[in-house]
Amino acid sequence: MIISVASGKGGTGKTTVSTSLAFSLNGDVQFLDCDVEEPNAHIFIKPDIKKTEAVSILVPEVDESKCTFCGKCQQACAYNAIAVLPPGDNSKGKTLVFPALCHGCGACSYLCPQKCIKEVKRDVGILEEGEKGSIGFIHGRLNIGEAMAPPVIRAVKKRIDPKKTVIIDAPPGTSCPVIASIQGSDFCLLVTEPTPFGLNDLILAVEVLREMKIPFGVVVNRSDLGDDETDKYCGRETIPILMKIPFKREIASAYSKGISIVKAFPKYKKDFQGLLEKIKRIT
Ligand code: SF4
Ligand code: SF4
Repeated sequence: MIISVASGKGGTGKTTVSTSLAFSLNGDVQFLDCDVEEPNAHIFIKPDIKKTEAVSILVPEVDESKCTFCGKCQQACAYNAIAVLPPGDNSKGKTLVFPALCHGCGACSYLCPQKCIKEVKRDVGILEEGEKGSIGFIHGRLNIGEAMAPPVIRAVKKRIDPKKTVIIDAPPGTSCPVIASIQGSDFCLLVTEPTPFGLNDLILAVEVLREMKIPFGVVVNRSDLGDDETDKYCGRETIPILMKIPFKREIASAYSKGISIVKAFPKYKKDFQGLLEKIKRIT
């Protein structure tokens, strides 16, 4: 079973929920941190990293000695990552590649009539793999300055072991990296907080999940702060609220030290086990 943990808004406590869930489950668990722009689950899980490897995509390299500057590669590229400057009276032609914009789709090399585009590897991030007790841990880390998280997220997800309970810590928001992270999940937990900002971003996340047809439920963190608009919204939309975590100074303090809720307060373990049971009943 694959459970992703997402939040429309950053800072809602998504990682403390996902790591607490992982620590509460019996049996083999695999934890994937797909928040590759800012992975932080390792701070809570503290895995022994055993393997590191580069994540790369294939980008075009043009052999201009064979290029006729026909422009077909430029027309094929949906991301403006390749530009063709045709030859002028006093200038030679030029085919420019912008690797940082390239998504590695391969369309340009496939469509080049001269077959003068070679695909070369470009590293965009790293993947680290390790374990902590019965938790297998994998996270990706996007290289500094890189803009495209999905290739690194896909590399992390290629490691999914379907025999295990898989927990995916997704990035916050509702953009492409979130879609890449939660796609294929059996269930998605949306972690929110009962504030106007939290509710606004929860509504956006709900729209995404409904579009993707992934079953989901809500965890309200710091549930005793803010207002009751989140409860009312979930009631109107028949969205199950599966867990409420009250605000406690001690939880916030443990979080700031990199300690998840169940490690700091083991009494919460049964609540997270109950959360899994509720998820199983829904799926
Ligand atoms: S499609 Fe091939 S031949 Fe045409 S401009 Fe691009 S690289 Fe040159
Ligand atoms: S591989 Fe795809 S994204 Fe990259 S330059 Fe070619 S067509 Fe554009």
